[in-house]
Amino acid sequence: MISQPVTRVGCSRLPRFDACPSTLLDDGGSYNPESEASGMGTAAHTALSEFALGREPDVAAIAGDNGVDPGELGLLVRLGSKAWEAVRDRFPEPRVEVPLEGEVVRGRCDLLHTDGERLAILDWDFGWIGTDKRLQLRGYADAARTAFGMPRSGVVETYHVRVRAGTVTPGTLTAEDLDLFRARVSARLKRVGVDFAPDFGTCRFCPRQLRCEALADYSRSAVVALVEAKPAEIVINDATLAALYPKWQQARKACESFDKLLGNRLDAGALELGDGRRLELVAQDREEIDALKAWPILESELTPAEIAGALKVGKTALLDAIKAKAGRGMKGKAADAFLESLRTAGAVTVKSFSVRREVKP
Ligand code: SF4
Repeated sequence: MISQPVTRVGCSRLPRFDACPSTLLDDGGSYNPESEASGMGTAAHTALSEFALGREPDVAAIAGDNGVDPGELGLLVRLGSKAWEAVRDRFPEPRVEVPLEGEVVRGRCDLLHTDGERLAILDWDFGWIGTDKRLQLRGYADAARTAFGMPRSGVVETYHVRVRAGTVTPGTLTAEDLDLFRARVSARLKRVGVDFAPDFGTCRFCPRQLRCEALADYSRSAVVALVEAKPAEIVINDATLAALYPKWQQARKACESFDKLLGNRLDAGALELGDGRRLELVAQDREEIDALKAWPILESELTPAEIAGALKVGKTALLDAIKAKAGRGMKGKAADAFLESLRTAGAVTVKSFSVRREVKP
């Protein structure tokens, strides 16, 4: 079991640690499910560190050192340099890849500025899917506070840069925010080896996943629930439908869990099915059209009605864009007024549909 108490957690592991403290349990083994995915991340961090320091990164050499595609790395550098333009004023004296050690966390902060008056940190995010970085940023901020002290501005500034999406999410953390964070991490550090919270999402990148009994039990229960759904002689009537409904819910959850279990396994390589058959993940490309760049061509070739027939307008995204342009405290009103204009123009139709819901009289 655990040899000595764990006193610090790496910032990048904070989200999984928050869900399952025992991910930090050091009981041998060297499996690292994140190592393959990290090559491009390491390369992109190196290249953008160079860029932030005012030097031109040698993309081909960095790609070669990390064994990644130079074309994709070049794209990330172009996207990252654009995002950097939006925040560079906040980092007049940038320090890159800064090792930090706090009371309960440690990590390497991508970018940091400190001058006594202000303390600002930035995290590059090269993923396709937006990740919740709040805990990680709190970790860096808390460790930076330990290293440099709380700035005179009274807040640590944080910047989460989603490079592929081209977005920068700024935030501020007060000393009180960081005290609460530190207390939470400290309490959870005492639960390492005690609390296990298996879940296929949480465990997917846990280095312990191949030897974790809690995950093995969880996986077994998913499979058992699936295989125990034996066919029976069923008379279809209201009573049997009602009796089968909870079993169907359970079987559906088991199928979802099995799907995740299988997905996690396939991430590590092909699965032999017997008779020479293999199940493996096959990369596929799907072309997507950038509406903004395509717009002039669409207008030159198609009528507005033809364009409209090919487009789907996302109501939530549209209202989010309106809210983003509205001033503080006016976002809801701006969205309501915008929606009302669309209704007046006859642009909104109501489609009725039914959802299944359990109700009590
Ligand atoms: S495999 Fe899952 S349950 Fe086990 S320690 Fe890791 S995160 Fe926790």
